[in-house]
Amino acid sequence: MKNPAPPIFALFGNPVSHSLSPLMHNAAYQKMGIDASYRPYCVEDLEEAIKRIKKLPLQGVSVTIPFKTAVMPYLDEIDASSQEIGAVNTILHDDNNRLKGYNTDWIGIVRDLEESLEIKKKHFAILGAGGAARAAVFGILQRGGIPLVINRTPERGEKLAKEFGVPFYPLSEIKGIRAECLINTTPVGMAPDRGRSPLPRESLSHFRWVMDCIYNPLRTQLLKEAEEAGSTVITGLGMFVHQGAEQIRIWTRKEPPIELMRKVVLAKLKEDHGD
Ligand code: NAP
Repeated sequence: MKNPAPPIFALFGNPVSHSLSPLMHNAAYQKMGIDASYRPYCVEDLEEAIKRIKKLPLQGVSVTIPFKTAVMPYLDEIDASSQEIGAVNTILHDDNNRLKGYNTDWIGIVRDLEESLEIKKKHFAILGAGGAARAAVFGILQRGGIPLVINRTPERGEKLAKEFGVPFYPLSEIKGIRAECLINTTPVGMAPDRGRSPLPRESLSHFRWVMDCIYNPLRTQLLKEAEEAGSTVITGLGMFVHQGAEQIRIWTRKEPPIELMRKVVLAKLKEDHGD
């Protein structure tokens, strides 16, 4: 009997050239003894790219900016968490030729936070109202935490807060906000905004923990200032590793080598930026 072809996994986004997902996934499959390859695709036409999943065939796809919401109508099935979050970052192409959507960003945030603190009954200030913010609010509620939303554009923040039944505050009111943990889900701190923080320095002492979803650079300006203000900081690396690890579980039903994944990404960040 002919051996089945080695599995192929992919990343769909635009742009994708900067992504460390191929490095992390390929290192994991090699360590797991799985003869698979994970390849980045810069997608121009999403509908066409989705059709190609079934033709190629690709067994699993990671979805990143700007397609996490746009991809949803093209899938055959979407799990309940992704429906509630309103975004899919993982597609499983199953044995019945069906495409199933999942969201592992919320799992990434929750697993990473749980390495530093207990979420239950703690107050979390979520800065931002995009896909990562929705995943954060959903995940914190799932674990019994108490989130509030802060956003630059009130309409978008209010919409998210209303959907999840949590309070909203405009960014201009940051100085009056207190919570045990602040989570930055805005891109302020990564290129082209490296060296910028999304919050005034004076507000940082209000948070015992400060997490940044950005992992490149690892030590963002926000985290540097939060450390100086006495907060314990959590980089976006753990979220990145845990969201990828969950994708590997969904696609292979096997346990991924989390520490190795963390190590290869960290080494690459250090090589590129001295992080
Ligand atoms: P998104 O949907 O575009 O949302 C971005 C949010 O940031 C919006 O609410 C936007 O506010 C706010 N924002 C943007 N620029 C701002 C500025 N200059 N000042 C204040 N607020 C600003 O993006 P996303 O998909 O949620 O991703 C957000 C970040 O999370 C990115 O840096 C991404 O790399 C990171 N992320 C990391 C992981 C990981 O694994 N570590 C996973 C997913 C995402 P408005 O509503 O006012 O426009």
